[in-house]
Amino acid sequence: MFRNLARPLYKPRHLYKNCVPAERSTLHLRGHSLYFRPNTLSEAVHALAASGGQILAGGTDFFPSLVDRPPTASVVDISGLHELKGVIRDAKHIRIGGLTTWTEIIKTQLPRCFDALKLAAREIGGIQIQNRGTVAGNLCNASPAADSVPPLLALDAEVELVSHSGTRRMPLTQFILGNRKTQRQPDEILSQVLIPRGIENAASTFLKLGVRRYLVISIAMVAVVIEKDSAARVRQARVSVGSCSVVARRLFELERDLIGAPIVGLGACANAAHLNNLSPIGDVRATAAYRRDAALKLVQRVLDSCAGTA
Ligand SMILES: Cc1cc2nc3c(=O)[nH]c(=O)nc-3n(C[C@H](O)[C@H](O)[C@H](O)COP(=O)(O)OP(=O)(O)OC[C@H]3O[C@@H](n4cnc5c(N)ncnc54)[C@H](O)[C@@H]3O)c2cc1C
Repeated sequence: MFRNLARPLYKPRHLYKNCVPAERSTLHLRGHSLYFRPNTLSEAVHALAASGGQILAGGTDFFPSLVDRPPTASVVDISGLHELKGVIRDAKHIRIGGLTTWTEIIKTQLPRCFDALKLAAREIGGIQIQNRGTVAGNLCNASPAADSVPPLLALDAEVELVSHSGTRRMPLTQFILGNRKTQRQPDEILSQVLIPRGIENAASTFLKLGVRRYLVISIAMVAVVIEKDSAARVRQARVSVGSCSVVARRLFELERDLIGAPIVGLGACANAAHLNNLSPIGDVRATAAYRRDAALKLVQRVLDSCAGTA
């Protein structure tokens, strides 16, 4: 009975036809707001375009952001899209499905260069959050303190966005524009994150500083990927810092200065000038000056620790 009451007259019929019976129902949230739970990406992009709704994945950012209010728009719950879960490899990329959870990232066997991402995954909330929270949710929420962004930047990640009118890709460096701002259009779903192959054997690590050791929002965090040559010198280096600017940043000048440096004592190569493109703010967690000092110390420590395993 409730299902009939909830079914709107103006919705395209195929949205219901394509869903299995248990998910066919829609719930009135407020006014004409509706709840959809499609089973395929194709159904999801059509439901999104037709309803103009908000995407719900693991809900670990979505629900806290509502505080105690109901959603004001329709909700397209994409958690049933199995095609967006897990990690697959092809000749050019390692592809992380947008709905892959942090627990899956931790449990999946991945090349060494993903160690930083795995370490970040272990620091995202507690185990319950890691079981629900997804890679795409962390990126699309676009918090300056999102822990996955520095490791994914250091992996030169690209994102793929799918809508009813097509698919586009862009580097992660271009996708996140600011605090809670991305290039994603309202009708687009972040379907996968693509990591170019070729640096699988590089060492990588991640370090996060918070006001306590676990279950904390970052004051600063750093991810590093280092590849050495046969003479134990740096062949390739990638360093990124999060929570110290509105969007996490790669330190390209430092990366250039590291090329050819001996692996031993790498941390000493980093100095305050290398952090000039950061613009930390002062807030309840730390002052801007503390963040800048802490970021430099973290960069130096992460370089030393990563070099030790390279
Ligand atoms: C107690 C707690 C602790 C936390 N600790 C941390 C932490 O330490 N570090 C950290 O980085 N984060 C933390 N988070 C935030 C959160 O868990 C992560 O950002 C998580 O990865 C979000 O994923 P989700 O699937 O739950 O996203 P959701 O909440 O479902 O969605 C988040 C946003 O992204 C959009 N979205 C989701 N998936 C897609 C998609 N595929 N395509 C397009 N848009 C999409 C949604 O519309 C929404 O705007 C914490 C959250 C809580 C509640």
